[in-house]
Amino acid sequence: MYIVRTRAREPRRPRAHYIVHMPPARFPPVYLDANATEPLRPDARVAIAEAFDVTGNPSSVHGAGRAARRIMEDAREALAARFGVRPADLVFTSGGTEADALAIHALGGGRRVIIGATEHEAVRAAAPGATILPVDRNGTADLDVLASLLGERPPALVCLMLANNETGVIQPVADAARICDRYGSWLHVDAVQAAGRIATDLKMLGAASMAISSHKLGGPAGAGALMLASEVSSIAPLIAGGGQERGRRGGTQPVAVIAGFAAAAETSGDAGTLAPLRDRAERAAVACGAVVCGGEVPRLANTTSLALPGVRAETQVIALDLAGVAVSAGAACSSGKVARSHVLHAMGLGPLAGEAIRVSLPWNATAADVDAFAAAYSRMALRLARETPDADRRTLVD
Ligand code: PLP
Repeated sequence: MYIVRTRAREPRRPRAHYIVHMPPARFPPVYLDANATEPLRPDARVAIAEAFDVTGNPSSVHGAGRAARRIMEDAREALAARFGVRPADLVFTSGGTEADALAIHALGGGRRVIIGATEHEAVRAAAPGATILPVDRNGTADLDVLASLLGERPPALVCLMLANNETGVIQPVADAARICDRYGSWLHVDAVQAAGRIATDLKMLGAASMAISSHKLGGPAGAGALMLASEVSSIAPLIAGGGQERGRRGGTQPVAVIAGFAAAAETSGDAGTLAPLRDRAERAAVACGAVVCGGEVPRLANTTSLALPGVRAETQVIALDLAGVAVSAGAACSSGKVARSHVLHAMGLGPLAGEAIRVSLPWNATAADVDAFAAAYSRMALRLARETPDADRRTLVD
């Protein structure tokens, strides 16, 4: 005979209580990698927890399904109003990568595709045969070249990001849209890094479509959206499935994630207040010999790309990580390895393309974070300068 002892258990706390009241983890101590993912905003945390308590598939016709659908449609309306589209013209996706891929699949078919030289891999991979639009030394797209490319052979789909993920450089997207319009072409805007940081409105930009992502504006990962101008909003799906999203994207929508996405978008806004902190971090790095990439043109206020001549980006990232500061190299593969940045390479920065780190301040960055970064950076730069033979060090590259 077995005697099974059961321990008296504490009554279970409701899950929502656990999620809402759990103190937000602060690891690592200094997180300056917001362009990889922003910390979850408190309002998003609450919205997710509340929506998790609603069981129901938004496609089901019963009351539970309708309750889930209500949450999702409220989120759609809020996001649509925030980013300048009609709710019916917003397609939920799994994130920014899928929104970019869906735009290129749906709007690029049968057209020549032209993409900026500094576009994210999400765009580059979805348009492998695309014509590349060059950028100048600051990373700004050359719109004269765009006009002559479109003059050769319209119509085209042009993909131009609003803000670059590595340098923060802001592209003249509204001007590009006017040129596209003149040549009967469409513009798709990857606004993944811009949304929630600078004014981002599809109608004001005059684009045909725009991609945004929840986790880049302080919402949870797992949702994004493709916004469409009304004239092109009846697109063919990339994933067909059960006909969700008006037949434009199959698959059951993650209602709680979408609720968090909308709540984060509502509280996100102007990252301009981070500029003094970003500038302080930049001054500290420049004092140690760093070069700011793309620093002479309008940029996102939270982002800087800092190259340390002669020192590999990976070495810098590891050294700062060991000091408790999280930053990233310009371009990290999913394997975790660091590749030379195609963005900085396209800007003509030569070897600096393998020697730059990206510092991107999250919405909750503090002066203490920046001071900790500055101290860790100068310790790292001094140590690496001692370890790197003079002959291998360069000051600036042509
Ligand atoms: N576009 C840009 C400019 C990005 O920075 C990223 C992610 O870093 C993406 C697209 C992809 O977004 P997601 O991570 O939501 O798939």
